[in-house]
Amino acid sequence: MVSRFLARGATSLSRQSMLSKRTMATVQSSIGDKKVEMSNLEKGKYINYQRIENNLQVVRSRLNRPLTLAEKIVYGHLDNPHEQEIERGVSYLKLRPDRVACQDATAQMAILQFMSAGLPQTAVPTSVHCDHLIQAQIGGVPDLKRAIDINKEVYDFLATACAKYGIGFWKPGSGIIHQIILENYAVPGLMMIGTDSHTPNAGGLGMVACGVGGADAVDVMADIPWELKAPKVIGVYLDGKMNGWTTPKDVILKVAGILTVKGGTGAIIEYHGPGVESLSATGMATICNMGAEIGATTSLFPYNFRMASYLKATNRGAIAQYAEEFNHNLQPDEGCEYDQLIHINLDELEPHINGPFTPDLATPISKFAAEVKKHSWPQELKVGLIGSCTNSSYEDMSRSAAIAKEAADHGLTAKSKFTITPGSEQVRATIARDGFVDTFENIGGVVLANACGPCIGQWDRKDVKKGEVNSIISSYNRNFTGRNDANPATHAFVASPDLVTAMVFAGDLTFNPLTDSLKGADGKEFKFSDPSGHELPAKGYDPGENTFQAPPADGTTVSVAVSPSSDRLQLLKPFKAWDGKDIIEAPVLIKAKGKCTTDHISAGGPWLKYRGHLENISQNCLIGAINADSGEANSVINQETGEFGPVPTVGAYYRDKNIPWVVVGDENYGEGSSREHAALEPRFLGGRAVICRSFARIHETNLKKQGMLPLWFKNPADYEKISGTDKISILDLQNFKPGQDITCEITHKDGSKEKFLTTTSINEGQWGWFKAGSALNMMAAAAKARGA
Ligand code: SF4
Repeated sequence: MVSRFLARGATSLSRQSMLSKRTMATVQSSIGDKKVEMSNLEKGKYINYQRIENNLQVVRSRLNRPLTLAEKIVYGHLDNPHEQEIERGVSYLKLRPDRVACQDATAQMAILQFMSAGLPQTAVPTSVHCDHLIQAQIGGVPDLKRAIDINKEVYDFLATACAKYGIGFWKPGSGIIHQIILENYAVPGLMMIGTDSHTPNAGGLGMVACGVGGADAVDVMADIPWELKAPKVIGVYLDGKMNGWTTPKDVILKVAGILTVKGGTGAIIEYHGPGVESLSATGMATICNMGAEIGATTSLFPYNFRMASYLKATNRGAIAQYAEEFNHNLQPDEGCEYDQLIHINLDELEPHINGPFTPDLATPISKFAAEVKKHSWPQELKVGLIGSCTNSSYEDMSRSAAIAKEAADHGLTAKSKFTITPGSEQVRATIARDGFVDTFENIGGVVLANACGPCIGQWDRKDVKKGEVNSIISSYNRNFTGRNDANPATHAFVASPDLVTAMVFAGDLTFNPLTDSLKGADGKEFKFSDPSGHELPAKGYDPGENTFQAPPADGTTVSVAVSPSSDRLQLLKPFKAWDGKDIIEAPVLIKAKGKCTTDHISAGGPWLKYRGHLENISQNCLIGAINADSGEANSVINQETGEFGPVPTVGAYYRDKNIPWVVVGDENYGEGSSREHAALEPRFLGGRAVICRSFARIHETNLKKQGMLPLWFKNPADYEKISGTDKISILDLQNFKPGQDITCEITHKDGSKEKFLTTTSINEGQWGWFKAGSALNMMAAAAKARGA
C-alpha cells in the first residue's frame, strides 16, 4: 500500500490578482465560449479548456477526492472519463493529447511510420524541429552551413513530408525543440507528447508534456488515443526563496540526488509551495526538463504570474489571460494526496554539481572539491559548456554574461574552453542584440549553432584524444559515459550555467566561486559577486531570422521522395506477425551488465545520421552494452558457430537463419532517451524479447510497440542464473492473458535446463501489437479496414 502525503495547504499560487480570478473562475461554467488559439502559428486551432472542465466534472463525481494538478490535467484529457478505470500506478489511461512535437533525429522514423499507416493528415497540431543533426566544429554560422549541406536529403524529406501532412516545420538553425515549444506552443493545462525525452520542459508553462517513442507519436497523429499508465504523483514542496548562487538547476540537481535515476519512474513530479514564486518560467522549465533524468513521466508547475509574464513576453497575452480564467484547474486542490512528498527549502539549498557519468550523483558545491580529490577525478577543467534546451533562457544567458563581464573587468579570459549554445534563434538574436554574445566572445567563448551540438555528441572535439582522462562541466542535463564526446574517459559534470561560467575562469574543478578568489590581471585577488540577470529582455525578444515553414492549406499534391539507394532514409517494411507459437531455445544475444541506457543500445553521435535508415543504424545495436560474461562491449559469442563477433553481426546472423534471440538486462534497462531505434533495431535484427530486472518506462513501451516482449524477472536474482551461452524458451504464450506471469526456461550450454518466472505489464491492446508483429501493423490493418 502506497503511503500518501497531503499537499501542505494550497500553494501560494501567485499574486492576489490571480487568487481572485481563481475564485471567479470556479463559478464560470462556459470556459469554452471563448476561442483562444493554441499558438500564433496555427490559425483556427483552439485551446480546449472546456473538455478538461467537462472531464473533471465526471472524474470528480467518480473519485470524490481532491485532485493533484497532474491528475487534473491528465484526467482532463481522458478519452472516456465515464468508463476509464482510474487508479494511480495501476490503470492504463487512454488519453487525447493536444499536440505532438518531434525532433529531426526521431521525426524521420515517426514520419516514415506515419506514412506506412496511409493517413492523409495529422489529427492534432504537430511540429518538427531540426536541431539534433548539427555538429559543433568551429562555431554557429559555419557549422550550420555544413549541416545543411550534409543533411540536405533528410531536411528535404522532412520539409516535404511536413508540408504534405500538415505539420509545422522548423528549419535547421531555428533552435532546440524544447525551447521552440516553450516560446511558441506550450499552453498551461494542455497536454503534449514529443519524441524526445526532454519534452517535459514545457511543464515550466504548466503543460503536461511527456517524452514518447515515435510509435506513440504516430498513434496520436493518427487520432488514436495515447496510452499511459496512470502516473503516481510525487509532490515537491518548495519553501523559501531562490537566492545568491542558487538557481533553478540546483532544485533538480538536488531532486535527482534524492530520487536517483529511476526514482521518478511512473510518476509525475508536481512542484508546489511558496518557493515556486521565486522561480522564473524558464527556470521552472529547466527543472521540468531535467526531470527526465530521474525517469519521471513528466514534471509540472502550477500556473502563476511568472508564467503569465513569459507568455506575454512571447506575444501570447491572450493565452495568459485565458489561463488566468481557468486557474482553478491549473492548481492542485487543497488537501490532495501525493504518493511521496519531498520538501526543499530554497533558502538553504546550495548550488550542486552532479556527476560524473550519471546525473544523480549530487554533491553540494561546499563538498565538491573534497569529492574531486577523494575520487581522483581529473582536477583540471578542460571545457565548460553552457546552453542547450535545459539552460539557455535569456535569464541564464544574462547571468552568465554578468559573471563573464566581471571576470573580463579583472582582465581575465577563460582558462578552460568555453562554449555557449543558444536554445533558439530568438534567444541568439536577443542575446546578440543585448551584447552578451560579445561579452562571451571577448573572454574566449565560442557561440555554437542554435542546436543540440555537444549535448547529443555532435561535437568534433579536438582538445583531447579518445581515451584521455579529462573533466568537462556543462549546464546540460545528461552526462552518461561518452554522451558528449564519445570518449569514455571524459568525466562529465552537470551544474548551473552560473557555476559553469565561473569555473572556466579558474580552469579547475575544485574552484568554488562562493568562497574562493581568483587573481585578476593586475595581480589582485577578487571574488565573484552573486550573479544577477534579467528574467526577460527589457527591450523584448528579437525574433531573429524567420526559420519556420508553415504547412500549406492543402498538402495533398506535395510528393515525398525517398530514394531506394539512399543511405540516410529507407521506407519501412512491416515486421512479421507472431506465428502463434512459443519462442523455443532463443539464444541470449547478450547478457548486459549494469547501466544499459538507450545510448548503449543505440548510440548517438556519428550514428545520428542514420536515424531514417533502419538497416544502417541497426549496425550500432547494443554496441555500447557491456557483456556480463566478459566485461567487454560489442563482443558476443555466436552460439551457432562458437565464434565471437560484434553484437549486430551476430544478431543479423541469427535473423538470417530464422533463429529468434533474446537480450538479458539488468536494472532500469533502456533509461535515458525516448529513441525508439533502441527498440526497432533489436526487432529488425530478429530479437523477440528483452528480459530484465527492470525497465525504463518509455523504452518498455517502445519495445511493446515494435512487437517485442519486455519481461521482468519475477525474482531479480534469476538474472544471475543466465549467461550469454544460454538459450531461453518463452513458454505457453498461446494461453497468455494480460496480468499473468510468463514462464521461461533456460537451456544451459551443457544441456541442463531450469525454469524461472517473469512478469510483464503488457495489457490487452499491447498483446494485440505483439500478435500483429507491431503496433503499426495493427494500425495499418485498421486504416485499411476503414478504407483510409
Ligand atoms: Fe538536444 Fe540535448 Fe536538449 Fe536533447 S537534451 S533536445 S540533445 S539539447
